[in-house]
Amino acid sequence: MLVVEDEDAIAEAVRARLQSEGYDVVVASDGPEAIRRHAEHRPDLVVLDLMLPGLDGLTILKVLRREPLNGDVPVLLLTARREETDKVLGLETGADDYLTKPFGVRELVARVRALLRRPRASQLAAGGASPGVGPVTAGPLKLDPARRQALIDGRPIDLTPHEFDVLYLLASHPGIVFTREKLLERVWTNDTHVTERSVDTLVKRVRQKIEADTRDPQLVLTVWGTGYKFADA
Ligand code: CA
Repeated sequence: MLVVEDEDAIAEAVRARLQSEGYDVVVASDGPEAIRRHAEHRPDLVVLDLMLPGLDGLTILKVLRREPLNGDVPVLLLTARREETDKVLGLETGADDYLTKPFGVRELVARVRALLRRPRASQLAAGGASPGVGPVTAGPLKLDPARRQALIDGRPIDLTPHEFDVLYLLASHPGIVFTREKLLERVWTNDTHVTERSVDTLVKRVRQKIEADTRDPQLVLTVWGTGYKFADA
């Protein structure tokens, strides 16, 4: 995996801990080096500091996301305290998770493990049922992508393929905000006719199928002005 961090002490602590957990770690201390190392190594995960000299983390993230190979690599952003705006921006730009400094290396390892277990966007885009992408349980909801089966409180529910993909994407990333734009990009990859309104309509239909009270959703939550997230248990 690739660790992008300009503060040597943090980079070294993160590298040492991840290596002791058995991961291969490459460190980059600035943007151009990060982009070069990503192209060379195609890491399975990127730990990316937001505040870097020259190219900042968000710019690097945008560049990585445009890479045809490995552009959907999971990215864990490191942010300084109270950079709320940066967090939201980061998630909108396509970070998968973030950690606020100062953080414990144990917490970092837990986040890294969780990200490596998650299905990748390219696997979802390929139809959702890629081998090795496992079932997800989130509260009363169980989703099995191999069978395209959805259960709520053990009771099967019928979902269209797009409904299943959106719900699976949200439920496999609890607490992570997805913008309408990002949902469109990930789920309706080849369809240019859908709009952000289509996402709202779809979420409304999904809620009718899974929520006890659609006026007070407990599972698929609206993040005002941004998009949707699955409730963080
Ligand atoms: Ca920094």
